[in-house]
Amino acid sequence: MKAQSVKTKSGKVTIIRGGRLLDARAHRADPADVLITGDTITKIGAPGLEAPAGARVIDARGKLLHTGLINAHTHAHGNLAKGMGDRWTLELLLTAGPWISGGRSLEDKHLSAKLGAVEMVLKGCTACYDLPFEWPAPTPEGLEAVGRAYAEVGMRAVVAPMVADRTFFEAIPGLMEVLTPGMQKDVEKLRLAPWKTSVANMRKALRRWTLDRDHVRLAVAPTIPHHCSDEFIRACVALAKEHGVGLHTHVAESKVQAIVGLQRYGKTLTAHLDDLGVLGPNFTVAHGVWLDHDDMKRLGDHGASVAHNPGSNMRLGNGLADMRGMLERRVNVGLGTDGANCSDNLNMYEAMRLASFVSKAQTPDCERWVTTEEVAMAATEGSARALGFSGKIGRLAEGYKADIVFLDLDHINWIPFNDPTNQLTHTEDGNAVDSVMIGGRMVVEHRRVTTVDMTALPREAEAARQRLAHRNAPTKELYERLAVVVGRFCPGLAHVPYHINRYVGA
Ligand SMILES: [Zn+2]
Repeated sequence: MKAQSVKTKSGKVTIIRGGRLLDARAHRADPADVLITGDTITKIGAPGLEAPAGARVIDARGKLLHTGLINAHTHAHGNLAKGMGDRWTLELLLTAGPWISGGRSLEDKHLSAKLGAVEMVLKGCTACYDLPFEWPAPTPEGLEAVGRAYAEVGMRAVVAPMVADRTFFEAIPGLMEVLTPGMQKDVEKLRLAPWKTSVANMRKALRRWTLDRDHVRLAVAPTIPHHCSDEFIRACVALAKEHGVGLHTHVAESKVQAIVGLQRYGKTLTAHLDDLGVLGPNFTVAHGVWLDHDDMKRLGDHGASVAHNPGSNMRLGNGLADMRGMLERRVNVGLGTDGANCSDNLNMYEAMRLASFVSKAQTPDCERWVTTEEVAMAATEGSARALGFSGKIGRLAEGYKADIVFLDLDHINWIPFNDPTNQLTHTEDGNAVDSVMIGGRMVVEHRRVTTVDMTALPREAEAARQRLAHRNAPTKELYERLAVVVGRFCPGLAHVPYHINRYVGA
């Protein structure tokens, strides 16, 4: 393992010997050696594959090698808010935002992203689509702080600032009117920056981005359609086009959103976004729980993606998304955990297990259930495409980046070893992760993160937690007052019948 390394003109050469390579589609894991040059897999061959003298040798005997899992939807700011709530609907979570994610310094933004990156790599995830939030507008410095956290941990990320020009209270028709005059005054202080400021700041960040875009790049996330004016959404589309980056929006996540979409636009949120020119191969819908089959067809016809987050959808009471319906209409489906403030553990193995279970919970017709290989594909190739990394990550194949997870086959999750795809999706929970390589670099080695001082991290997080609890005491108090109204008004709004044209009725 400590052999002297040899360098070619394309970088250091590494050979992984003795492992079994997962082919999730074929439900097979045959012995094979993997040759890596620099950050890329250059050859996969039978055991005993030839390697240049002096190549670094990694012993993978007793290990299952699978391509790094890719989290298609998370939020950096959520990590410092881990465990702060329980019986939250999406609307209560949005109300809690200023309390649980507010008052953050640049260092807090960096730390929160770093906590998530560390958790994800320890749990076999090598890339993510991250939607961080800054109030009242994104800043180039804030985005750089988040991006730098991923670069330091050694994880790939697409960082898409979550932007809006209407607060949650302005976005939901009738909500402002049911607040007391005192509450109205308080929520007016939460007002966001004018959309032109947000666009200018994002453009500045895109222009001056210095991180390696193969590792960490930017995208644009008009957060929720009705939280953004149409002009703002159009400007986001233009900005994404100008810089060749992705667009990511929460669409039809909750029933409240689906109903508000119809009230505001007289059509579904997806149809509205289609009219604004948002739909295309670089567009990702987060959640899509309340998409109907026409919405799915629109997305599929445009080559768009859905980031499916089954854990978050259940935790916030939003319902069960129809992954089979999406796949049937050629929607690219990626898989995500969502943020730690609403689905807690950023564990992509758990997201896979839940994606499978959620599909099976919707109908007794097992022909329509998604399969373990469809779920494994969503968590790898599907998410890679959503991130705009198609053809580069998401597969263990020649020409792909060397993003490889080493699972310990002596772990109880794999005893006995019957079917690698079924066990990856249904049995593995992250506990068998031994090592994680990203771009040829060992970021986790024998269950230890190699890139971060793990003794300093808990101290830094505790100091931030104490400071933020103190600073956000007034917004916590405001949340407690508002929650009484929001907690009644929004479920009332969602109480009306909503006919959804799809196989799984609502
Ligand atoms: Zn989200």
